[in-house]
Amino acid sequence: MLAYIGLGSNLESPEKQLPRAMQTLQQLPDIQLLRSSSLYRSQPMGMAGQPDFVNAVAKISTDLYPMELLAILQEIEQQHQRVRTEERWGPRTLDLDILLYGDLQMHTKELQIPHPGISDREFVLIPLQEIEGDLVIPGKGSLRELIDKLPAYQLTRIATPDVGAQP
Ligand code: AMP
Repeated sequence: MLAYIGLGSNLESPEKQLPRAMQTLQQLPDIQLLRSSSLYRSQPMGMAGQPDFVNAVAKISTDLYPMELLAILQEIEQQHQRVRTEERWGPRTLDLDILLYGDLQMHTKELQIPHPGISDREFVLIPLQEIEGDLVIPGKGSLRELIDKLPAYQLTRIATPDVGAQP
């Protein structure tokens, strides 16, 4: 199954956290890292006064079921010493989200796929476009249409990927 993972960090050298997380994904036996986007700097959503985020997207191939994949991503977050707080959209060392899992649409308490934030977040859509321009997001429309609907965006590309296949 092809899946897309969103990566984000705004604490403890985010420019290093994200490539490290990509490397971890690459080394897992049940996951094959196919492509990784550049790193992008974005303004934080929600809580004011926190550092800018660095975001990227990875395309993977996996035989894991969605909940198994989520469990592994949460383990990687823990390894990166992310401290979970009650604060939604607060600062974080590493955040890993399942953006897409094939054509699957699921809406349970633990897992929503496609990720609910996918259609209006520039820091997801732009890196996705870099690695897979022709994507259609199940239930939401084509990636191009969603990008066209974005207000003027403030995303800065800061680095090209140094692990995984290039876009
Ligand atoms: P956050 O703290 O914003 O990363 O949210 C983490 C919670 O979101 C986890 O407890 C997951 O169960 C839930 N969640 C729902 N859908 C997704 C998804 N597509 N990818 C990752 N986490 C998800």
